[in-house]
Amino acid sequence: MNILVINCGSSSLKFQLINTDSEEVIAKGLCERIGIDGSRIVYSPAGGEKQIKESDMPTHTEAIKLVINALTNSQTGVVKSLDEIGAIGHRLVHGGEKFAFSTIINDEVIKAVEECNELAPLHNPANLIGVAACRELMPNTPQVGVFDTAFHQTMPEEAYLYGLPYEYYEKYKIRRYGFHGTSHSYVSERAAKLMQVPYEASKIIVCHLGNGASVTAVKNGKSIDTSMGLTPLEGLVMGTRSGDLDPAIIEFIAQKENKTLAEVLQILNKKSGVLGLSGGFTSDFRDLEEASAAGKQNAIRTINVFAYRVAKYIGAYTAAMNGVDGICFTAGVGENSHTVRTKVCEYLGYLGVTIDEEKNAVRGEEIIISTPDSKTKVMVIPTNEELAIAREALALVNANR
Ligand code: AMP
Repeated sequence: MNILVINCGSSSLKFQLINTDSEEVIAKGLCERIGIDGSRIVYSPAGGEKQIKESDMPTHTEAIKLVINALTNSQTGVVKSLDEIGAIGHRLVHGGEKFAFSTIINDEVIKAVEECNELAPLHNPANLIGVAACRELMPNTPQVGVFDTAFHQTMPEEAYLYGLPYEYYEKYKIRRYGFHGTSHSYVSERAAKLMQVPYEASKIIVCHLGNGASVTAVKNGKSIDTSMGLTPLEGLVMGTRSGDLDPAIIEFIAQKENKTLAEVLQILNKKSGVLGLSGGFTSDFRDLEEASAAGKQNAIRTINVFAYRVAKYIGAYTAAMNGVDGICFTAGVGENSHTVRTKVCEYLGYLGVTIDEEKNAVRGEEIIISTPDSKTKVMVIPTNEELAIAREALALVNANR
C-alpha cells in the first residue's frame, strides 16, 4: 500500500509518499510559506529531479491540492490516480492523556485533539488544518493520527507529576507529557535489534538531538521517563530553547529587562539554548563545530554545556532504570556530530563505555560506535519518523478493514 505521510506546521507542510511493501519513499517534498507571499512547493520523486515551483497557497487546502497534483502529474508524478494512495498518516503533536496510541481519524477524534490544543497552541491547530484539508480533498481515504506524545503515556506518575499543588494536575492536566515519541519508539526498537536483545527485556536510552532535543528512558519497550514536559521547552539545551532552568529566572528577567511574561517565554523558546549561549552566533551545530575547531570560546562553551546536559540526563535515566544496555544517538546533531557524541561519552566512563573513534566518525548510518568490550553499547541510529508513521497507519487501516 502507498501511504501519504503529512507533517503540517502553521506555514509549512512536509510530505512523503511511502510504499509500505518495500518501505521505500516514492516521492517527498515540502510546501513552504503557506499563507505568506512567495509560497512554493519543492517536490522530489525517487530517482527523478527535484522540482521547485512558486505557487499561490493562501491556505493548506491549496498546498494539499498542489501535493496531489505533483504526485499524480502525468509526466513527473509517481501514481496514476489518488486510488493508489491507500491511507494518509498525519503527525499530530499533542494527544494529551487521551491518546496513548495512534488512531483512525474521525469527527470524535478531531474534537478530542482540539481539546488538547491549549497544550500545544503552536502545533495542534496547524496539524488539524492539514487533517481538514486532506479530508476535504480525499474524503474516501482513511486518515490516521500518530501522536508525538503517545509513546510516553506509559510513564509512571512519579515521572510525569511536577512538584506542584496536585489540584493543578486534576483541574488543568498540568503534567509532563514528552514529545518526539514516534522517534524514540522507532529508534529504541531498532537499537534492541542492533544489540540483538529482546525489546521487551531491554534498557535503552535514546538521545534525540536535533534542533529540538530530548532524551528518553525506554525500559522493556516502554517509555518510563523523558526530558520534555508539559511543553517541548523542558529538558536539554536545544537549538533555540533553554531547556531546564530555575523557574524564578522568568520573573527576574521580566523585571530586569522590563518585559512581559509572554516576551520572556518567547526568549526562552526562540533566543536561548545554543543560539543564546553562543552569544547569538548560531543555532546550528555545523557552524559551532567549525568555530570550536578554530578555538572560538563562545562555540566551545556552548558545545560543552549542551553535551553536559545530555550526559546528566543519561545518568538520571540509568538510575531510573537501574542500569542501561544501550545508549542511542539520533536526529540531526545525534546522527551527524561526532564531536557531540565524543563529548557526551567522555562522561560515561562509570558505565564502562569505550568508543571506537573510527566508527564514531560515521554520519547518518545505523552502527554500534562503542568497542566490542564496552560494557554499555553506544549506537548511532538514524531516526525515520515518516516510516514509523506509515507503519502505524498501515497497521490501523489493516485492522479496521
Ligand atoms: P533536526 O531537527 O533533527 O533536523 O536537526 C537539525 C540540526 O542538526 C541542525 O540545526 C544542525 O544543528 C544539526 N546538523 C545537521 N547536519 C549536521 C552535520 N552534518 N553536522 C553537525 N550538525 C548537523
